[in-house]
Amino acid sequence: MYHDKKFSVINPSKMCQPMGAIQALLGIKDTIPLIHGSQGCSTYMRFQLTRHFREPIEVASTSMNEKTVIYGGEFNLLKALKNITEKQSPSLIAVTSSCLTETIGDDMAGIIKKFEDANIGKELPIIIPISTPSYAGTHIEGYDNTIKALVEYLSTPSRANGKINIIIGNNSPADVKEIKALLTELNCESIILTDNSENLDAPLSESALNLYNEGTTIEEIKDTANSLGTISLSKHADSAGVLLEKKFGVKSISGPLPAGLENTDRFISSLCKFDEFEVPESIEKDRGRLMDAMVDAHSYNYRRKVAIFGDPDFVSGMTNFTSEMGMTPTILCTGVESKRFNEDINLISEKKGLNPTILASGDLYDLHHKIKEKPVDILIGNSYGASIAQEENIPLFRAGFPIFDRLGAQRISVLGYNGGINFVDEITNTILDYYYDEAGYEITEEESHESTRSGLFAEEEV
Ligand code: SF4
Repeated sequence: MYHDKKFSVINPSKMCQPMGAIQALLGIKDTIPLIHGSQGCSTYMRFQLTRHFREPIEVASTSMNEKTVIYGGEFNLLKALKNITEKQSPSLIAVTSSCLTETIGDDMAGIIKKFEDANIGKELPIIIPISTPSYAGTHIEGYDNTIKALVEYLSTPSRANGKINIIIGNNSPADVKEIKALLTELNCESIILTDNSENLDAPLSESALNLYNEGTTIEEIKDTANSLGTISLSKHADSAGVLLEKKFGVKSISGPLPAGLENTDRFISSLCKFDEFEVPESIEKDRGRLMDAMVDAHSYNYRRKVAIFGDPDFVSGMTNFTSEMGMTPTILCTGVESKRFNEDINLISEKKGLNPTILASGDLYDLHHKIKEKPVDILIGNSYGASIAQEENIPLFRAGFPIFDRLGAQRISVLGYNGGINFVDEITNTILDYYYDEAGYEITEEESHESTRSGLFAEEEV
């Protein structure tokens, strides 16, 4: 039974700020993220990230305890910086705060300065403090704050580099690869903020437990001040672009997520605002293949009702994409309170003649309740949607973060024309599996009930 709840979140569709920060930092070469907080914070991040990416995840912790909470975390932070510097010698240590250390008011920048002053003359890594209090935001703000802090501390104006900064957002290594491939085909030189495509989908090797030796370099982050422009794929991760525009006049464009035909076209036209790029035949062909896939799948997807949950840009991107495919986005849920999300969905709804239920700042409890009220044919979102899908007897198309009950999350791609083709194929096959028989005929509602009944009887007989 649904209880109207006013003061609680049940099964949140969001995570804490340091989680977003760590995701951004794992795309930087030779870097250690250090969480200034209790061991539980870093254990939680490592646990979630490892079971999603199936890679070893390096996150250090200042291991705060009862005593240090009372006397302050200075000793622990100084000790952690010393240990990491001596044992791992990274080029960058990014110190993110946590609920605990923000609450007791530790001055991370002051403590870092103290460490640097005490080690004058020694070769030290660059150390950057990043404020990520979880009670003042989600992983979305954590990602945004981190990219902004990196650019704020490191970007240095020098000679124009002719490149375009791409703030990639919280997307899978496969999606990052897809965007990079698109840029290469367009002959567009870029700086990816940040590039997790190798670190989080790495080949098996003996150096698996070393520092990440791929990803965006510190030199590249410094060079962002000299680029032609910045494009943020996520409208909720554009603070670094805004800062670069204000400080160095590097023009910035925000979103939309290049999911589907229309949004990928918009991404290419955004690039063309900064420089003249000739779209090669190979890209035209990929675009044509996506259109072909959509046409082939249309009869199976047309008017299928879909519920989508996850990060705001993912939900608005997939809303646009699924409506392009002829589906009917019916319930849209994100865990973040966001004016831009509401504006985006309203705009898409107006353009496509949709009337979805919007759950901004919603949780999975609300989502489940709405699905009971307005049944849908398929759910799109992360693994936390599995129990809803099972209870409602609908398929779950797994995308987003985290995916821990299936393998290959790092290889799920939905962005660009090629990611779009994967998505159309996969979601249509899921629908075929669920709603069509082996001869290709749609299973009617009565047939489906009969098979459920016979399944139940069969179980009882056993
Ligand atoms: S919500 Fe706060 S205490 Fe919990 S893991 Fe995140 S930072 Fe740590």
